[in-house]
Order: sequence, then structure tokens, then C-alpha cells
Amino acid sequence: MAAIGIDLGTTNSCVAVYRNNRVEIIANDQGSRITPSWVSFTDSQKLVGEAAKEEASMNCENTLFQIKRLIGRKFNDPTVQKDRKRWGFGIVKDGDRPKLQVTYKEGVKTFFPEEISAMILAELKEAAKAFMGEEITDAVITVPAYFNDAQRTATRDAGRIAGLNVLSMINEPTAAAIAYGLDNKSNDERTVLIFDLGGGTFDVTIATIEEQIFDVKATGGNTHLGGEDFDNRMVDHFIEEFSKKHGVDISSNKRAISRLRVACEAAKRKLSVSTNAKVQLDGLFMGLDFKSNISQAKFDAMNEDLFDSTLDAVKTVLSDAKMDKKQIDDIVLVGGSTRIPKIRQLLQDFFDGKEICRTINPDEAVAYGAAALAENIRSGGSETKERLQLLDVTPLSIGTDVRESDMCVIIPRNTKIPTRKMGSFTTSRDNQTALNFEVYEGERPCIHDNHHLGTFVLEGIPPAPKGVATVISVFEIDRSGILTVTAYDSISGSENKIKITNDEKQMAKNEIEKMIAAAEKFKIEDMEWKEKSAAKNELEDLVYKIKQKVQKDTSVSHGDQKKILLKSQATMDWVKTNKKTESKSIRQKTKELRDLFNRMIGFSSD
Ligand code: ADP
Ligand code: MG
Repeated sequence: MAAIGIDLGTTNSCVAVYRNNRVEIIANDQGSRITPSWVSFTDSQKLVGEAAKEEASMNCENTLFQIKRLIGRKFNDPTVQKDRKRWGFGIVKDGDRPKLQVTYKEGVKTFFPEEISAMILAELKEAAKAFMGEEITDAVITVPAYFNDAQRTATRDAGRIAGLNVLSMINEPTAAAIAYGLDNKSNDERTVLIFDLGGGTFDVTIATIEEQIFDVKATGGNTHLGGEDFDNRMVDHFIEEFSKKHGVDISSNKRAISRLRVACEAAKRKLSVSTNAKVQLDGLFMGLDFKSNISQAKFDAMNEDLFDSTLDAVKTVLSDAKMDKKQIDDIVLVGGSTRIPKIRQLLQDFFDGKEICRTINPDEAVAYGAAALAENIRSGGSETKERLQLLDVTPLSIGTDVRESDMCVIIPRNTKIPTRKMGSFTTSRDNQTALNFEVYEGERPCIHDNHHLGTFVLEGIPPAPKGVATVISVFEIDRSGILTVTAYDSISGSENKIKITNDEKQMAKNEIEKMIAAAEKFKIEDMEWKEKSAAKNELEDLVYKIKQKVQKDTSVSHGDQKKILLKSQATMDWVKTNKKTESKSIRQKTKELRDLFNRMIGFSSD
């Protein structure tokens, strides 16, 4: 059975598979190679991808997007609080976690971010099934390099809810490096800079590639910079223009802003291939039409500071990797926003006119690399000759509190993963039998400024004067970047191993089965919806054919005609009024109608 690679993006997702000795990008059922990471709920169905995105302006309260920004975060996280102000959909608090609240089929429903991500993953899984003609469950899913343990765990859970067996999770830039490595067959060591500018995030990574070894040297960027910021600048510009022209402020009208944003995003994409773009919206606000123009130069000028800031990140990452820009052999562009000509030009100028690698599709590179790795793991390295070796780094330091609020770093940032590091601790009170550790990640010296990952307690330490016991704790990060902490008391020799009791992990474990069951229910509901829609179509088709037949065929008596048409109408009305009826009943009614016809005028609908 094949294994797929999935780029679960904030804005767009992409799925690929290794087949016929190469990686192939899988198109979705609409024929598109990327699927917007959007999910929408209506009174009759759940939509994923392009169809969900199209719902945005009509049904913004129930149309979810950028859910990756929420995954693995707590409700009180400042970014969650900031983001929710911008979004048109509701976020509620469940314990300390955020949940999305929507109206679906006339009822209020809430979902954890993992469940929404799982719906996107399930859609991609289905596309892969259709493409390969068999059920696909094994997958490699990519995550941003800066994702912490909770975000990675939650992404893995989303995979499980979608019915995937997650073989591994790799960092997006590493996946792009693999795509580049497969594309560039040179055996010499090459240093590449991966520049990923997506919808809402920006990452820069430097890695060296030598045959099958991918060695990440440094990674950095900005978790709040991307195409959406450029859209916002254009939206603000047009709000001002509208105000100047008509003397009214449209900024507080959600629907008008939402329509304007969609138009600006389209204009922005146009400006990547043309020097001018039109923006035209009929009846934008209070019946007033909006018609304007924007030039590429104007767009570049309004985003100058944002564009320039991408170079600052490049400089930081070069310095973290202790490299000079001359040492970079290739520049690989990833993410839709790298299509902006000005960005390409800035980058090229910074690298003294160096050519940018053009053979890799920025929208597909990440999924491409993930699929190559999935195949490599699946086949044990046999088909792609050797096992790929990924030497990734942990983006943030991980440690625990020892004295008061001091952060004691166990695994420093930029440590190669997988890694295993030990720390030695002791008791601070006489006869203390338990030690409590709080695990944090971050670079600040005071733990409270860092991100809390979880708590773990070691019990069963033999009573002794303070400072006698020696507790060894082991911090391990696996290939997917997931952290496990264990501890044992070395003096008593007791194998008192304790895994980190990360709150989120515990909860996810208890809830995951429930979420899987809910996702299954959704799958059945979705299937029933499709069935129902097919049944309705069949009925409509029959009624249409009947009308045609009755009108054309003069041998049908007037009485029969009337009877038949009345029955047709009655059946149609019945379906319309009984909205909740199942496909089975519709098919039954259709059959009754067809039988009546066959009996009355020997008509066969086929
Ligand atoms: P993510 O990694 O966040 O899922 P993508 O890499 O798919 O995102 O990038 C999406 C962003 O790229 C959006 O903001 C979109 O407007 C932008 N984008 C896509 N195509 C173009 C283009 N031709 N020119 C400029 N921006 C583009
Ligand atoms: Mg991306």
C-alpha cells in the first residue's frame, strides 16, 4: 500500500504520492492541485476546500479558516485572543482549550481545532484514494519548524482522527529541502536557503544536502507575516479611497470588508503577472459600487517595510548558521507569496544577482518532499535506494524549573534531533519523597516568560535528608519533534519511570476516541448527503422526462396527463417539505412515481 505526503497549510493544503518512480501531486475532486484549508457548515452539509471558501461572504459565521493558528494552543494564548478578533466565526472556551462554534444543520456544534484539521486531512485522504484506487492510510504530515510539542501532538491527533496512520511528521522546510535534493542530483554537498512565505507565516531555513543527508543548520522567520498582511494593506488603501470618494466608512461592515478582501487577494495575484489590476465590486456598501485600479508599483510601495523585513530574517538565519551569503549555493522558494516579483527581486539583489531556483513549484514543494519521505519510510529505503537521513534541529530550548523561576535548559535550541539529554536533580527538603517538574520551552531566563509544556511528578523517592537523593530526568525528542520526559531515582535504583503528563496529551488521549467516532459519524453524514443529492437528482430527472413525454405524446389521455403531472408535483413537494427525509425514502417515492407511469402509459424512464 502506498504512503502519502501531506502539506497541511494554514491557507492551502497539498497531497502527493510516490508512484511510477516519481512523486506525483494529487489533484482534488475539482481538479485542483492545492486545496484551500477551509471548512464550512451549512444547514444541510459540511464543505471542505474551495467550496467552503466560496461560502465565506454569505456564511462567514460558519466558515472556518486558518485553523492551524489555533491547533495545540490554549484559549488564553495571546495569539488566539488576537486572531479571534479578526475572524468572523465563534471561538469558545472548553477547559483551557479553544473550540470552534458553528451552526450546522440547525443546531449549534463545537469542534476542537484538531477535528477541523482532521476534516481537511480526510478530504486529502479521499483524493488520494480516488487517485490510487485503493484506501490509503499511511502518511507523512508536515509541520512548521517553529511548532512546539503541543502543536505537533495536536497535528498528529488530527491525523489519527482522519483515520491516518502518521508515519512521521517533518518540518516544512526540511520537506522542501528533500524536494530540492531529489530535483538536484549532484552528489557534492550543497547549501540551500529555503525561503517560505505563505499566507500568514514566513520561514527561512538553511540546510546542507549531501546525497541522502539533509542537515538543517538554522531556522527562523516570523510567525505573523504573509500574504494576508499584504492583502490587508490593500484593503486599508481601498477603504480610504472609498471614504474619499463617497464620504462613508465601510470598515465596520463585515460583509463589505470580506468582499473587498477577496477582491484584493485576487488583484494581488494578478499583480504578480501584470503591472496593473482592476478591483470592481457592485453595490459594495449602501448600494454604492466600487471601481478602482492598482499598479504593481503602488502595491510594492504600500508593502515596502513588510517586504524588506523578510531580508532581516534571512540575515539572522545566516548569522545563526554562522555563514556568509556567498556560501549559499541555491535559493529555493516555497509558498504562494514568493510569486510576488518584488520579493524575488529583493532576494536576488541581496544575493548579488544570484539566480533563484525555478524548477520547484512553490505551492507543491512541501508535499512533494513529504511524499518522498513517506515512500522512503514505507519501503525501508529500498526503492529510493537509500534511507533519507534527516538531521533536523529543535527550534526552541527545552528545560525545567529548578530554583524558583529559573529556566534550567536541558535541550538547547538548534540541537539536532532526535536527541536524548539528561539532567540531574535532587530534593530540597528532608524526607521529600516526590519531585515536581514543570517543563517549559523558550529562550527567556525566567520560566514564566516561556511556554509551559506540561508537568511531571516523580514519586517514590526513599526518605532521606535533603540533597541526598539523585533524580535523573531524561528529555527525549523523537524524529517528529515530539518530547517525552522520563525520570528515575538513581539511589534507590527504583525504575520509577514517569512520562510527561502534558495536560493536552492526557486530554487528547481521553477524547481522541470520541473525536474519531464523531469524524466517522461525519463521514456517514457526508455520504448520506451525497446519496440524498443523487436521489433528488434522479427524481428531478424522472419528472423532467415525464413532462417531456406527456407533452409530446398525443396518445396520452387528458385525464392521465393530469393525474401523472399531479403525482409528479406532489412527489417533488413532498421532498421539499420533508427536508430531513433520507435518501432511501426519496428513492422509494421515485420508484412509486416511476411504477405509476409504467402502469399508466407503459413509460420506461431509462
Ligand atoms: P500556507 O503555507 O500559509 O498554507 P501558501 O503557501 O499556499 O500558504 O500561500 C498562500 C498565500 O499565497 C496567500 O496569501 C495567497 O494570496 C498568496 N499567493 C498565491 N498565489 C499568489 C501569487 N500569484 N501572487 C502573490 N501571492 C500569491
Ligand atoms: Mg506552506
